[in-house]
Amino acid sequence: MSLVDPQRRILSGMRPSGRLHLGHYQGVLKNWVRLQHEYECFFCIVDWHALTTDYDEVGQIAGHVMDVAVDWLAAGVSPSSATLFVQSQVPEHAELHLLLSMITPLSWLERVPSFKEQKESLAHKDLDTFGFLGYPLLQAADILLYRAGWVPVGSDQLPHVEFARDVARRFNHLYGREPGFEEKAEAAILKLGRKGAKLYSSLRKSFQEQGDVEALETARAFLREQQSITLGDRERLFGYLEGAGKLILPEPQAMLGSAPRMPGLDGGKMSKSNDNAIFLRDTPDEIGDKLRRMPTDPARVHRNDPGEPQRCPVWQLHEQYSDENTRDWVQQGCRSAGIGCLECKAPLTEAICQELAPLQARAAEYEASPELVRSILAEGAEKARDEARDTLVEVRQALGLVYR
Ligand code: ATP
Ligand code: MG
Repeated sequence: MSLVDPQRRILSGMRPSGRLHLGHYQGVLKNWVRLQHEYECFFCIVDWHALTTDYDEVGQIAGHVMDVAVDWLAAGVSPSSATLFVQSQVPEHAELHLLLSMITPLSWLERVPSFKEQKESLAHKDLDTFGFLGYPLLQAADILLYRAGWVPVGSDQLPHVEFARDVARRFNHLYGREPGFEEKAEAAILKLGRKGAKLYSSLRKSFQEQGDVEALETARAFLREQQSITLGDRERLFGYLEGAGKLILPEPQAMLGSAPRMPGLDGGKMSKSNDNAIFLRDTPDEIGDKLRRMPTDPARVHRNDPGEPQRCPVWQLHEQYSDENTRDWVQQGCRSAGIGCLECKAPLTEAICQELAPLQARAAEYEASPELVRSILAEGAEKARDEARDTLVEVRQALGLVYR
């Protein structure tokens, strides 16, 4: 069995709803590309999640999965550093979702903000389904299945990660209390050696009595270094640090990048459904066109009217893409009516097209080799399944589902 260190492990996912846009790129993908060298990363195309809202448009899913995979690879997510896979190719996600559903209060699901919001924004659809209500739980299963400590996402996902934490805590609370836990933990401490045991106990005391989070971190790091104790003892000692019991499913935390809510062409959150997105594979002409038609400060009706960047969605994009010189030029030029809105947009168009050019070249290569993309995903699914199976062995055991 492999040793899992949740603090070094990442899980994140995206729904296959078509080609990705700058919101996905600036908000999440760039972060993934950086993190893949520092963490053990699992990136999942969550096709079952797509079904929760698009159960009546299934003809497009396979194409959308391919689009997402191509965009990930083009953005620099590398199969040699990270594990890329499709959710439904790892059926263990469904088993964990089912098992967790037994302990998840309905009220927790009903109060997740996206439940009401999405229902309202997709009012033309019947979303009074079991699957749609269970969306956050399926996402919790996605994360907990890999015992990932970190989940790099956009800020709209924060309540979902919080939900996954709640579910993990409840699970550990219900099933982490093996009989004689304290005695077993105390016995495990002795196996750390005299010095180690003393260190562990004093760090645990500092955390439990004074809430010293640094002591908790130090103790965790110390446990990770211990080679001589068994996996079971290590998990007991991790759990004992915080008091509760054995930590079977570690609580994940969200990790936000530098643009956790990337604005779109109308100033609202960039999203396909808001029709305000620039897609990674838009041509330079399409990008120029979208930016030209982008609304600006409504008070600037005529070329000679001074404007206010704070009221202008174009400024939000400058904040993301432009250097200080350009930003100063924009602020002064806009407020003094020294530059027109089209002029103001020109350096943006250039910066965006320039950043996307190498990405688009790579996308074209992957698009031309769908077999390669499929084999990357198949290999990723194999790797992911190995990890998923390990977790489920422990989960089944905790639930008493062992018949040998
Ligand atoms: P869209 O919002 O365009 O419909 P989606 O909702 O289908 O896309 P998800 O699978 O829900 O996409 O999101 C994938 C990831 O991208 C999530 O982590 C989400 O937070 C992030 N994300 C999506 N849009 C943005 C944005 N505008 N800024 C920052 N992050 C974003
Ligand atoms: Mg979304």
